[in-house]
Amino acid sequence: MNKEPVSRELFDEVMVPNYAPGTIIPVKGEGSRIWDQDGREFVDLAGGIAVTSLGHAHPGLVGELEDQAHKIWHLSNVMTNEPALRLAKALCDLTFAERVFFANSGGEANEAAFKLARRYSWEHFGPEKHEIISFRNAFHGRTLFTVSVGGQPKYLEGFEPAPAGIHHAEFNDLESVRKLISKEKTCAVVVEPIQGEGGVLPASPEFLQGLRELCDENDALLVFDEVQTGVGRTGHLFAYQMYGVTPDILSSAKSLGGGFPVAAMLTTAKVAASLGVGTHGSTYGGNPLACSVAMKVIDTVSQPDILKGVAARSARLRKGMESIGERYGVFSEVRGAGLLLGAVLTEQWKGRAKDFLNSGLEEGVMVLVAGADVVRLAPSLIIPETDIDEALERFERAVKKLCA
Ligand SMILES: *Cc1c(COP(=O)(O)O)cnc(C)c1O
Repeated sequence: MNKEPVSRELFDEVMVPNYAPGTIIPVKGEGSRIWDQDGREFVDLAGGIAVTSLGHAHPGLVGELEDQAHKIWHLSNVMTNEPALRLAKALCDLTFAERVFFANSGGEANEAAFKLARRYSWEHFGPEKHEIISFRNAFHGRTLFTVSVGGQPKYLEGFEPAPAGIHHAEFNDLESVRKLISKEKTCAVVVEPIQGEGGVLPASPEFLQGLRELCDENDALLVFDEVQTGVGRTGHLFAYQMYGVTPDILSSAKSLGGGFPVAAMLTTAKVAASLGVGTHGSTYGGNPLACSVAMKVIDTVSQPDILKGVAARSARLRKGMESIGERYGVFSEVRGAGLLLGAVLTEQWKGRAKDFLNSGLEEGVMVLVAGADVVRLAPSLIIPETDIDEALERFERAVKKLCA
């Protein structure tokens, strides 16, 4: 078996060019530290992209994965599946949900959510009521349906024709939704409680509350895409709990597996009933390895002291970023919630978020961007406070270099 070290050049020789990875080749991670091929060490404030919710090589997750690996890796959905049912039970106990569907990625969980919303309306109100309202700059995944519902036209370009019946309103603008929603045609309103890829932009509580009311008045389902905000990211198990606004359908992925691919769509028994036997499915959805790992993630993250720890870490990180912003004049604002933070670049630095990411790498800290104008942070929910301090010191050096 080929276990030779690989080089960045190999990417261009063997991969479809839809990504443009950097030159660093990470090979090992532990907690919130990562090492590359050359042994260079980084503090990880990226968590993949808001994925490794308990850091790298978490002993509890490794243990669950190993345990299950010795038992059974795969079961078809024709079989009753212990790890999947345990995880579904936990998710129902901890949230509004009464029914769960498992998938393998955020895009797939959303695909299931949108299909369910249409099917539910079709069954209860007829085929006319199929329109979906979502928001400009929203991100819901890369399948054809999810890029169409997403609000970034560049991701759809060249892949048309898109599915019909999708309309985009303005995020945090109820009036724009009121203009599009109707009892006759709208089956669902889809929203990220905090727009992630769109710039770490939180919804206002009044906006989400208003969407809930508009959906109720128009017999439409409210769908929360919590792929990025879910599983402790905001300091609450799910962001809907922070806002006090309950959706009818919720999608979860990213942090849910802590790095192992798994996703879930949560809903009520009444809505779930519209996905009857044979209407939808996924070969790998509910995979025993994935569900065992996710069970451990949920068990850990739902502990009150872990969630409280997110709030404390958030305050420390936010304060540090604000201080860097003030001293170097690079950030106008640090926004977001919990450990999903966005540092918004000032006018002078607009469009240069990628430069901050690259300068960070040179100084040994991994950060993310959310568009061209926002530096995004989404570290492990249990990142040691000393790692936060170290990361901030390194990031400050990175900023200083850029400003020089
Ligand atoms: C990342 C993301 C997705 C897509 O998830 P994949 O696992 O890449 O399919 C969908 N919605 C939101 C809000 C996301 O952040």
